[in-house]
Amino acid sequence: MTAARIDGKAVAASIRAQVGKAVASLPSQPTLAVVLVGEDPASQVYVRSKIRMTEEVGMRSVHHRVPDTISQADLEALITSLNEDEEVDGILLQLPLPDGLDSDAAIEKIHPDKDVDGLTETSAGRLVLGKSGLTPCTPTGCVILAKSALGDDLSGKHVVVVGRSILVGKPAALLFLAENCTVTIAHSSTADLPALCRTADILVPAVGRAQMVKGDWVKPGACVIDVGINRIDAPEKGEGKTRLVGDADFDGCAEVAAHITPVPGGVGPMTIACLLRNTVLAACARRGWDVPAGL
Ligand code: NDP
Repeated sequence: MTAARIDGKAVAASIRAQVGKAVASLPSQPTLAVVLVGEDPASQVYVRSKIRMTEEVGMRSVHHRVPDTISQADLEALITSLNEDEEVDGILLQLPLPDGLDSDAAIEKIHPDKDVDGLTETSAGRLVLGKSGLTPCTPTGCVILAKSALGDDLSGKHVVVVGRSILVGKPAALLFLAENCTVTIAHSSTADLPALCRTADILVPAVGRAQMVKGDWVKPGACVIDVGINRIDAPEKGEGKTRLVGDADFDGCAEVAAHITPVPGGVGPMTIACLLRNTVLAACARRGWDVPAGL
């Protein structure tokens, strides 16, 4: 079997298009505030893309760029001021924060109504309780991609999520559970991981280990949603060159699976698309607007 490739770029583009339509139908423009602390080059790239795509869908973005010398108290005061700003619908604190700053404490300052990354304890608690709310962007993207391949009804599917981080693994497991899947969470102490993975209808590696999941870990006909983003040497492209790969060995897994996400171009593009969608949902909830159809 050669798996169908799940085109995350195309699915993300269609979500952004839906968000753009939704924004045009709202009484006023939602606003996303992005806080970037320090000069981390990768964070700067992510923030630039987030701002560009926010503006492309017709929303307003405000950018707060602060030096890595900012104190915890001043960072939290900035977040508090954004909580109080009536114009701001969503607050995104770009992670990781520079050493010396406490990201958990800073995230907790974000008002849950504006928590478009879905990372506050209130958002996490609502997810555990099965209540509606703003859900973390990358895991939400995983569920949308699985549905794009398998259809909207995922009930009864066995999902194995490999990884239990707060950012990805745990919320992904809870989101698949909310879709009535049967969910197993695996981690670094899981016994016989390959055998467990072979029981998955939907396999979601979220580990951060390049090409760890091999073809013989995959049940024939399964759907692989690869969250991992790992940079490896690519001497075939020239000396010193590198390339991005996922946590799954794409070629080996594609021989066995029915559907698989590529890296890059799979889960990655979904994260920003879901952030933009969350910003519209946050604006509608806070301002008492009806959620536009299609979101
Ligand atoms: P973390 O390092 O926070 O978590 C990794 C998880 O993998 C842990 O739960 C760990 O288990 C588990 N793990 C580590 N080694 C093994 C192993 N040998 N066998 C089984 N489980 C193992 O990473 P994140 O969750 O933040 O990210 C995971 C991957 O997803 C990374 O590659 C990251 O770059 C990528 N990512 C991609 C995003 C996107 O937009 N596509 C967004 C966010 C992340 P334990 O808890 O026992 O230590």
